[in-house]
Amino acid sequence: MEQRELLSMMPEELRAFLLELGEPGYRADQMFSQMHKGISPGEMTNLPLPLRKKLCEVALWNLPQIRKKLVSAIDGTVKYLFALSDGNCVESVVMRYEHGNTICISSQVGCRMGCKFCASTIGGKVRDLSAGELLGQVIAAGKDTGERISNIVLMGIGEPLDNYGQVVRFLHLVNHPAGLNIGYRHISLSTCGLVDGIEKLQKEDLPITLSISLHAPDDETRSSIMPVNKRWGVDALLNACRAYFRATGRRISFEYTLISGKNDSPKDAEKLAQVLNSHLRDRQSTMPIHVNLIPVNAVAETGFQTSDRAAVRKFAAILEAKGIRATIRRTLGADINASCGQLRRAAGSAGAE
Ligand code: SAH
Repeated sequence: MEQRELLSMMPEELRAFLLELGEPGYRADQMFSQMHKGISPGEMTNLPLPLRKKLCEVALWNLPQIRKKLVSAIDGTVKYLFALSDGNCVESVVMRYEHGNTICISSQVGCRMGCKFCASTIGGKVRDLSAGELLGQVIAAGKDTGERISNIVLMGIGEPLDNYGQVVRFLHLVNHPAGLNIGYRHISLSTCGLVDGIEKLQKEDLPITLSISLHAPDDETRSSIMPVNKRWGVDALLNACRAYFRATGRRISFEYTLISGKNDSPKDAEKLAQVLNSHLRDRQSTMPIHVNLIPVNAVAETGFQTSDRAAVRKFAAILEAKGIRATIRRTLGADINASCGQLRRAAGSAGAE
């Protein structure tokens, strides 16, 4: 009999599962709350011993295990390499801000999007994570740090909209009042621009923040660093963003990784301002536009160089002059190589040791 994964179940599914086992359904809510605190069914002393034993046999308890943990001496950022139940590994990072702890989680083992500057995609995609494995990263990090995690960004390894069903299930699980109860407004989902996924998400009525990895102002440059752009170009992507904003009222933020000599010239900044303003600002839509500039993290395999500080500042100033809010991403965890994909690669291509 295939073991059913407990952490992927909503309370009503857990109730149905308990009934299938011939157990009273009322235990579901209690179990759900305890599991979301990281307590395994085997440790649930409020359950009768025979039920605990039965659950250990027929159900899968797959909270990710900490394989490696690095803590930044500079700012307290914690980076985890988590082992999943099949030995594959993913990374999560806990960042400490004044407004609370934010966790960056992974959505897939590897990635098949092929962005040229990114370490996560080098070995391709191994598999999708289940909703329970997405949730498990938040639970395991909260349990380990002993602190509340109040914000989540889906910006780790993988493309969340390429694992759509499990990601949406995870959003419902992590928001559940009987579980971690993290508000949708405290969750950001970052995508390389899968337009069909953005259109689907728009209909879910989940007030999360959408973040678009844009990285270039025109199709030629974008297609040369992000293969996804050959399927959906800049125009189609920004039209989907406008539709998303109109339907949900939720602000979208744009990520722009600056690569020296590739997309960081003043001309690129002018083009970016023009393309964003023309697509997102018209009489019907006055979307506030926010661009997060990220000096590219040099990954040995990619050969790309980080833009110098002066170029980054100039780029930001041009955007600001055109009415676009531009922030330069602060580097956290610089001493522990906190950007994603690199720890897993160092641990072997499938992440298993
Ligand atoms: N697939 C999703 C989420 C994962 S990547 C997405 O593309 O948005 C998270 C962010 O890190 C993206 O904006 C991605 O483009 C960026 N990124 C990847 N490699 C990077 C690198 N070497 N330097 C800086 N940013 C990088």
